[in-house]
Parts: sequence; structure tokens; C-alpha cells
Amino acid sequence: MCSLPLPREPLRRVAVAGGTHGNELSGVYLVRHWLLAPAELQRPSFSAVPVLANPAATAACRRYVDRDLNRTFTSTFLNSTPTPDDPYEVTRARELNQLLGPKASGRAFDFVLDLHNTTANMGTCLIAESSHDVFALHLCRHLQLQYPELSCQVFLYQRSGEESHNLDSVAKNGLGLELGPQPQGVLRADIFSRMRALVATVLDFIELFNQGTAFPAFEMEAYSPVGVMDFPRTAAGDLAGSVHPQLQDQDFQPLQPGDPIFQTFSGEDLLYEGESTVYPVFINEAAYYEKGVAFVQTEKLTFSVPAMPAPTPAPSPAS
Ligand SMILES: [Zn+2]
Repeated sequence: MCSLPLPREPLRRVAVAGGTHGNELSGVYLVRHWLLAPAELQRPSFSAVPVLANPAATAACRRYVDRDLNRTFTSTFLNSTPTPDDPYEVTRARELNQLLGPKASGRAFDFVLDLHNTTANMGTCLIAESSHDVFALHLCRHLQLQYPELSCQVFLYQRSGEESHNLDSVAKNGLGLELGPQPQGVLRADIFSRMRALVATVLDFIELFNQGTAFPAFEMEAYSPVGVMDFPRTAAGDLAGSVHPQLQDQDFQPLQPGDPIFQTFSGEDLLYEGESTVYPVFINEAAYYEKGVAFVQTEKLTFSVPAMPAPTPAPSPAS
């Protein structure tokens, strides 16, 4: 197994992004607050920078203006020649790549935390890139231990062979927080407070690492996408049914072959016809109707995460 290079030095350049999707309001309002009152993001060894990732979509309270910003951080978009006709989010992705990256370069930020909400019943979901993302997985483990009551689930978003496309992939290390259920364009105090506490604990973890803490190896359980399921549709492409009441809100629960997944408008139950157990997530996520996704099918993985040694402090400039 090849792992992403572990940070060998303290993480000094850290950002917390919100509003990557402009209608996911916990991150939008946390970042707006921190832009006015940044002291909450300071730790002894670093200060995290708050970033409102998609200002135009946030102003319009929409997920995006022209295209999904969080699918735009690929080399195809970042490295193509700018033109006046570029979609807004392509231009914005290049700006963020200049601010926080460039992606895959030594000058990139050490860590980006990206804040999201989902309309699905995913509770506290931590989104890392892959099982090779050792620093992020140690951070996930730390959050799980700090918040046992939240039963934080880890989702590894990257499909094998696919280039990372998320905002936090422009940094050397990153993590996404996906908190729900919260409707689009709505701010819930319970989820806002939970996100704020989780961000504080993420920054505390980076501080612990920077102060010379080593972290032991552990076994991790995580969910990895294996496919997506679209809604039943008419020949014209309109919805012909909705998520089955027995599946609604059952994110991260096992779905067996033969279990009901949709209820058609004619009253018929449609059953899951796969050959093995899957774990649906993003069930009935509002933003995914247009993507043709009623839910994402995942498999549950268990794997070992190697120990993470303490960083070596960089020599001070005075010496
Ligand atoms: Zn989002």
C-alpha cells in the first residue's frame, strides 16, 4: 500500500473553507463569523485562515452558479488556458488553487479543512481522500475518540484511478466535514455548534502534532463508494418514484439484496437487486437529484493505518 507522504514538519499554513457549496449554511456562517473574529482559529503554533470558497454562489444561496466547484479541482480545469467564457467556478477554482496550492506543489497549504452540509441523515461524516491519506485518517481517529457520542463515520471519496477533485485536494493534506441532515439554505443551531466544536478539535489535533506528538497505528473502519443508484424514471426522464420509506434516513446501514429502495408513484416497491450487501450514503441528498443519484452505494472497509511519527521542528531562523 502506498501512502501519501506524511508531514515531517509542523503544519503552519492551514485554512478552513466554507461556502464551497453556497447553500450549505453552517460553513458559510462560520467562515463569515471568523472573517470578522479570527481569534478562534489561532493556536500557539499557527493561525488558520478562513476562506469563503464560492462567494457568488453564497450570495445567491445556491450550490453553485455555473458548475459544481467541488468537482473542479482537477488538472484539466486548473491547468487549462483561461478564456473569457470560462464558467465562474472554473475561474474561482484557479484562484483558490493560487491561494491554497498550487495543487501537488511544495508551495501548497499544509492543510485545508472544508465544511459541508448534507440533506441526508449522515450525522457527522468525515470525508478523506483514500485509505492512503494517513494524516487525515489519524485526525479522523482523534475526532472519533474525542466525540464518541457522535459516532463519526469516515467516507473515502476517491474512486480508484480517479483524480481527486475536491477543494481540499489542492493542499498537502485535507479533510471534509459533512454534517446533516440540514436542508439547503437553512441554518440549524445544533449542527452549527457541532461543526464549530469539530473545527476547534481539528485545529487542536494539528497543534498536538506540531508540538511533537506521535500517534500509534490503529485499525480503521471506513466506507468507500462502489457505485451510485438513480431514481426510477419515466421515459422522459422525470421521477417515477421516491426513496422508499424503509431506506430513507438509513445512511451507513446495511442494504441487503431484496430490500426495498424505491416506492413508485403507482404504489410499487422496487427492491435492491445487487448481489451483495452495500451501505448507502447520501440517501435522498437534494443536490444529487440533478446528478441522477438517489444514493451512493459504499462498501465497508477495515484496514490498518500506520503509526504517525512526531514532526521534526524546522530550525529557527535565528540559529
Ligand atoms: Zn457540500
